[in-house]
Amino acid sequence: MKRILGIRLITDFHDDTSWLMSSMLRKRIGSIEIHFLGGFDGVGGNLILLEGKRDKVVLDFGIQFSKLRRYYTWPIRTPTGIEELIDLGIAPNIRDLYACWDKEGNLAKQRDTNIQAIFISHYHLDHCYLLPQANRNITIYMGKTTKIFFDYYKKIKRRERKGLWRPDNLDQCIRTFRSYQEIECGEFKVTPIHVDHSSPGSYGFIVESKDATIAYTGDFRFHGPKKELTSDFIQACKERGIDLLITEGTNFFDVSSVSEEGVKNQLYEVVSKSEGLILASFGMKDIDRFRSYYEVAMKNDRGLLMSYKHLLLLKELKEKDEKLRSTIPDLKSDMITAYYRSIDKRLLNELREYNLICVREDLSKYIDRRKIITSFVEILQEISLRKVPPDSIAIFSESEPIDEESQIEFEKIVNWLEHLAIPSYRIHCSGHIYPFQLRSVVKEIKQKELEVIHSNYPLVLRKYLLS
Ligand SMILES: [Zn+2]
Repeated sequence: MKRILGIRLITDFHDDTSWLMSSMLRKRIGSIEIHFLGGFDGVGGNLILLEGKRDKVVLDFGIQFSKLRRYYTWPIRTPTGIEELIDLGIAPNIRDLYACWDKEGNLAKQRDTNIQAIFISHYHLDHCYLLPQANRNITIYMGKTTKIFFDYYKKIKRRERKGLWRPDNLDQCIRTFRSYQEIECGEFKVTPIHVDHSSPGSYGFIVESKDATIAYTGDFRFHGPKKELTSDFIQACKERGIDLLITEGTNFFDVSSVSEEGVKNQLYEVVSKSEGLILASFGMKDIDRFRSYYEVAMKNDRGLLMSYKHLLLLKELKEKDEKLRSTIPDLKSDMITAYYRSIDKRLLNELREYNLICVREDLSKYIDRRKIITSFVEILQEISLRKVPPDSIAIFSESEPIDEESQIEFEKIVNWLEHLAIPSYRIHCSGHIYPFQLRSVVKEIKQKELEVIHSNYPLVLRKYLLS
């Protein structure tokens, strides 16, 4: 492994970096010491601690899934708690970041801390997985949409309280923000500015102290339907003057430069020429992708069949997010049906005005119809038991990162599709900015210093960006 001076002491991550797992990378800008505690050695797991003279703030609170996968397989082997993740070097060993629990797993007295706040850029788990483990003496700031996602998971997992998922009393720590709201945190002022990403309600942050200004992009892109949001972030950076830009750098090799509009066009092309069932798979938090599928379904006179969890999430967003409301279609229309295998009575009651079917009893007639089944992977075996119409196809439109709920090995799905003689397509665009666009962003912001995180190739990407 190469060693390079200063903060750039790591090479790109083609070889073993286990020695780095528990190390911290530091950098100083004015009076701010920046600790890259996560996200510096691969895609995801962002966790950046900014330390001033008295106060500290944290940007994102994620976990890198490639590290989790070394030790865990859902659902049979999952983390038992935060101590285990610290022991394994997956979560940084900064004790006052975390909640204290007693032997029964209840909240104990929390540590005193000078960490003023944790800011969550968006609700992708590689940016917020550790949230339920946050020290209850720390204020947690998140966008309103992120809070809706969090509340949704609390609703879905109401009876679940194990491993890391222990959201007890977390609500009282959470404050929500909207773009441009200036938030004072001791010696820091933090301003969230919206960006476009594959999850709605994504933000970058500008952090100002008396002698330094740092911008952090979170995850962002320029090829989604809301690229003007990303332009607003860049404009705010230019106006303030940035000493250090911390950018994501997910895309470097093998980048396909398709836009969400391009995805929709490709979907239309394939769906309009297929007579049978469409088995689709995409991340349910990706509302842009849902809209692309919805519009293609409309144009082809097809209905959508989705999981009840997906329907419930869309319902929550439509009811509670005034900005997203108009982008989500009427979920009670005949065009949308949701399936369940088993469902909590409370949720069944909540969804009683929507079109719901039980997979065991009613799936056959929905397979016979002209449908697009979203999240088909969950009911692939049930589908295989029915007579699948000829000229059925599968489309993978996964949005990265893959979270724990969708970690079913791709190969096994392909084997089932082979068994059913169903060909598959991959029609997708990244939730992350393309290198040529990021290069323009860097040139435009004119930051004094640049760091790339959330990347498998941070060094070469940085070299390219600054060339
Ligand atoms: Zn993301």
